[in-house]
Amino acid sequence: MLEIRKLQKRYGNFQALDGLDLTIPEGEIFGFVGPNGAGKTTTLKITAGLLSPDSGSVMIDGVDALADNRGLKEKIGYVPDFFGVYDNLKVSEYMEFFASCYGLEGREARMRCCALLEQVKLEDRADFFVDGLSRGMKQRLCLARALLHDPKLLILDEPASGMDPRTRMEFSAMLKELREQGKTLLVSSHVLSELSGLCTSIGIIEQGHMVLEGSMEHITEQVNSSKPLLIQVFSNMEKALAILKSHPCVQTIAVKRDEIKVGFLGDRQDEAALLQQLIDADVMVSGFMREKGSLESLFMQVTAREDEKAVIRHEMESGL
Ligand code: ATP
Repeated sequence: MLEIRKLQKRYGNFQALDGLDLTIPEGEIFGFVGPNGAGKTTTLKITAGLLSPDSGSVMIDGVDALADNRGLKEKIGYVPDFFGVYDNLKVSEYMEFFASCYGLEGREARMRCCALLEQVKLEDRADFFVDGLSRGMKQRLCLARALLHDPKLLILDEPASGMDPRTRMEFSAMLKELREQGKTLLVSSHVLSELSGLCTSIGIIEQGHMVLEGSMEHITEQVNSSKPLLIQVFSNMEKALAILKSHPCVQTIAVKRDEIKVGFLGDRQDEAALLQQLIDADVMVSGFMREKGSLESLFMQVTAREDEKAVIRHEMESGL
């Protein structure tokens, strides 16, 4: 659906995007995560046709979006990270104003606006002034506005910032519903936990380029495989240690009473094979699992500056 290749953008001397690649298959909710200033908004604005890159390409459904700005805007709905000032407009007037920008007028416009306000659960606020809505309601109104022209791809810049947990959950449910209706969503945040229950895939951006990208399952597997294996041995500890020492996936071994903590670079098949090898050698294994990892710890690792990284590696290794 969306393919971004080698995107570059400078602001004066500052390199905001440095060869950014990003791929989103149709029907995904893609979480675009990165620390403040990493280049998320710049990427989203270029994708929405609001900013020109210095070089690189943006393809939507195989069409060069940078060359076809009008076609691009038909396919994209953009929800920015700020809400403009509309002091004297009521919710219904606000929607009908934007509907007219998309060429919708009269009864057709009113019906479309009503349906969308219902979809974002604001139907009972149609006669309220926009200015008086809560932040969560304004965000939902922005979403309804972005859906007016029925775009295939929805881009949301930091939608959850400033929302309380309940409002965030309700908003996430709305986004999941949109996915079920066939939309593809690109959602940014600088807080990974805001997105982890929502997204089907994520990409982590740092200093203008992608440092990690993949499906949620793939990323979760990476989180888990970066953690040590914890093996509890009931008997035959010496034999177990001999097997581990000669195993190609084993990086480090630390023993505490009957528990062995193993730095293990391997996938689930390698883990299963190791367990089998221990059992075949008459080692009685009473526990065998990966230490629980978290998406946050992976995010901290891949977005850490070099000096911070050294500390994280040191802390991880010293625990082994
Ligand atoms: P945040 O999470 O804080 O919103 P972001 O990941 O969205 O950050 P961008 O807004 O894309 O990051 O900004 C990337 C970098 O480019 C930042 O260092 C920012 O200060 C800089 N930048 C953004 N817009 C401009 C501009 N118009 N002129 C100069 N520098 C800019």
